[in-house]
Amino acid sequence: MKTFCGRANPTTGAMEWLEEDENYDYHQEIARSRYADMLHDKDRNTKYYQGIRAAVSRVKERGEKAIVLDIGTGTGLLSMMAASAGADFCYAVEVFKPMANAAVKIVEKNGFRDKIKVINKHSTEVTVGPDGDMQCRANVLVTELFDTELIGEGALPTYEHAHKYLVQEGCEAVPHRATVYVQLVESKRMWSWNKLLPVHVEAEDGEKIIVSPSEMENCPGVPSVCDIQLNQMPSNDFTILSDVVTMFSVDFSKPVRSASTYYRVQLEPVKSGKAQIILSWWDIDMDPSGKINCTMAPYWVKSTSAFQWRDHWMQCVYFLPNEEPVLQGETVYLTACRDEYSVWYKLQKARGAEENKADVCVESPVCRCQAHLLWNRPRFGALNDQNRTRQYIKSLMKVLKTDSVCLCISDGSLLPVLAHYLGAKQLLTKTVSYFFFPPPPQFFKANHLDDKIKIIEARPELLTTSHLEDKKISVLVGEPFFTTSLLPWHNLYFWYARTAVTSHLTSNVTVLPQSASLHMMIVEFQDLWRIRSPCGTCEGFDVQTMDDMIKNSLNFRESREAEPHPLWEYPCKSLSDPQEVLTFDFRKTVPQHGLGTEGSVNLLRKGKSHGAVLWMEYHLAADISVSTGLMQISNEKGNCEWNPHCKQAVYFFSSVIESETLSDLPSAVSYAINFDTKTGEIAMDFKL
Ligand code: SAH
Repeated sequence: MKTFCGRANPTTGAMEWLEEDENYDYHQEIARSRYADMLHDKDRNTKYYQGIRAAVSRVKERGEKAIVLDIGTGTGLLSMMAASAGADFCYAVEVFKPMANAAVKIVEKNGFRDKIKVINKHSTEVTVGPDGDMQCRANVLVTELFDTELIGEGALPTYEHAHKYLVQEGCEAVPHRATVYVQLVESKRMWSWNKLLPVHVEAEDGEKIIVSPSEMENCPGVPSVCDIQLNQMPSNDFTILSDVVTMFSVDFSKPVRSASTYYRVQLEPVKSGKAQIILSWWDIDMDPSGKINCTMAPYWVKSTSAFQWRDHWMQCVYFLPNEEPVLQGETVYLTACRDEYSVWYKLQKARGAEENKADVCVESPVCRCQAHLLWNRPRFGALNDQNRTRQYIKSLMKVLKTDSVCLCISDGSLLPVLAHYLGAKQLLTKTVSYFFFPPPPQFFKANHLDDKIKIIEARPELLTTSHLEDKKISVLVGEPFFTTSLLPWHNLYFWYARTAVTSHLTSNVTVLPQSASLHMMIVEFQDLWRIRSPCGTCEGFDVQTMDDMIKNSLNFRESREAEPHPLWEYPCKSLSDPQEVLTFDFRKTVPQHGLGTEGSVNLLRKGKSHGAVLWMEYHLAADISVSTGLMQISNEKGNCEWNPHCKQAVYFFSSVIESETLSDLPSAVSYAINFDTKTGEIAMDFKL
């Protein structure tokens, strides 16, 4: 049987439904899952184990049998902990079939067949009674259903249901309680992920400023959580405006209500500044006393000794609907609103509205300006990056001539606006056009550009001379950037579009960027390696079945696939020099034949070769390039600095080589990298 998977085709930029093996989705799910990361999370695992032991003991001390319900058992880990702690019986519920099957195997292998029953159902489908899935209600409730936002994976409705139907009143719960913390900060860096800041353009006839329309300024943005590795945010990128305060907590041992509600706290700013961002994280107490605590607090809040790296739980960044000046010592009120699955914030200065409940529960944020639908947070960050803009301005100035007819092929790009301003004097003959998603209409209005820039709604292969008012294009520009791109080379769609419009280009057309190159470097990750690394045993339990399953899914395709990761969040050091491996000449059309290269790269530093990182560089004009990957190697240790607005491609090696000294062999990694011009995909293979 075959299944169909939606995917953007990098040669057409369009979404396509591809026929995949029926197991493709499932293998993707397993291969990209966070199970390995959870199993490597020592801090989480030991605390769960302590909490489970304590809960089982409390039940036993009361002279009761300990009957455990483990919702979302995954590998069966928490149930095995409970059984080892002396639980009389465990019901291990798991909705995802491949995981439930794995749990059955793992439970058997570890000898808990008689103590643990795996139930492959969603917990809300589980029945209780003599003929039911569970013989009786449980008196110990164990779960790990949390995401970075705590409630985003549906913990609240699951608990609500479990307390009503699956567990006894007064049951023990592990974790016992979760608490959400917040801190008010000002941060130009983070604020620039949600608003378009004024873009300054030094044109020949004076400075021009691209502004965002008021609809955009006042738009609350999109409701999806912004979860990041906050520990990678340097302290000089934000200013703390308040102490850390408790926003709300949930006691999981009592009935839980999932219905929408709000929480309000009073904040006394410790500093005057612009209130822009709420940073938030949570902790869980595994026992009622709070002695066994597992926290996501960032580095400036907790001691480094408590530090555990993890990727399955990070920290949240919430954007206030508007930035608001606050004064040191002058009380403000912060409201957290939540529905079943998400949280959002608003800040008020006066107490007045506090009693007025109707006013408090504002609607969950919905983008009204359309910009947040077109530009995601890293894209906002890139558009607000003045350095980057400067490179494009410099190169546009080099290539634009008095009689240029300019066409831009990129999604949501400001390049045509820059081109317009930079050529203002010669505007008479210049046409600037967009292809693909332009910024929202209000944007053009606010910048008085309605009639200056033409938006062409046609696919490149369907472009006609009438779209271009019978002109030929003399300057073709692109960032290039397309919203459907997942991996760095998917933006090569620009090359395909350029090829499709060839008949409309002048014979001496300037293409900006003139070319692109693919770069590669071997790295040692500080932590990211954990997400793809086998675990073997976890807290004494054999979970190799899970390792095998992940390995099998990773090897499902003939050639392993690279995966996108924003590496500014994941420190690594370079073990080799960066190497240019392929170039793509946009001045020419896409060739019929594929592009391939083979070679080897020397390892210059000692360390563990976890994988290769690949990224694109665009050569805008002579001597002006922008990198979507490596910005610099910052010290002799090889620590890397990455473009903070782009994801890079990471190819994890299936086995890690560790060289303690440079004389150790192997000291080189050989590679074969092939760009298939028919599919727009890059296949790669590495030998250590
Ligand atoms: N308990 C394991 C795995 C946690 S991951 C551990 O701690 O290592 C969470 C798992 O819960 C996922 O496998 C997911 O498929 C499952 N899940 C989430 N909500 C569920 C529900 N309501 N009923 C059954 N399974 C659920």
